[in-house]
Amino acid sequence: MEYKNINAVSMEIGNSIYLYDRFSNEFMKIDKAIEKILDDFFTLSVEEIEAKHTDITKSEIIEKIDFIKKAQSEHNVLIPYKVSHFAMSPNLSIYDKIKKKIESGLTNLILAATEECNLRCKYCIYSGAYPTIIRTHNSGYLSWETAKKAIDIF
Ligand code: SF4
Repeated sequence: MEYKNINAVSMEIGNSIYLYDRFSNEFMKIDKAIEKILDDFFTLSVEEIEAKHTDITKSEIIEKIDFIKKAQSEHNVLIPYKVSHFAMSPNLSIYDKIKKKIESGLTNLILAATEECNLRCKYCIYSGAYPTIIRTHNSGYLSWETAKKAIDIF
């Protein structure tokens, strides 16, 4: 399942549901009630969640909301990151932009060497399944010059 208000996906494997939080790169086991209310947690009040999900008891909804809040505060997952969190200030020089990014906790450098992966996972960002993402699998490769620049900056 894809979520609207958080960059995560959940999937049922056997009798369990696992959620992958793309921003924190963490997997977590959740249950059906959390899967159902997770998107609403970010946009609705507790009363509205209760009114919408009548198949879940009120006490269970409170318990699941506490679980989500605890996951956010203690494990830094299920945070509704916005694109603007990653946007760089247009008024800074390129040097200051990079410096700011690095000082803000940049700890990993991932070089996507190609978009030509042949595994074709259904959920892949290049699968064509996401209407707002126009890139699909292609034969594009990361050039040596670009990779070197990224490594030098990192
Ligand atoms: S198809 Fe996409 S998600 Fe699957 S391994 Fe390749 S790049 Fe990754």
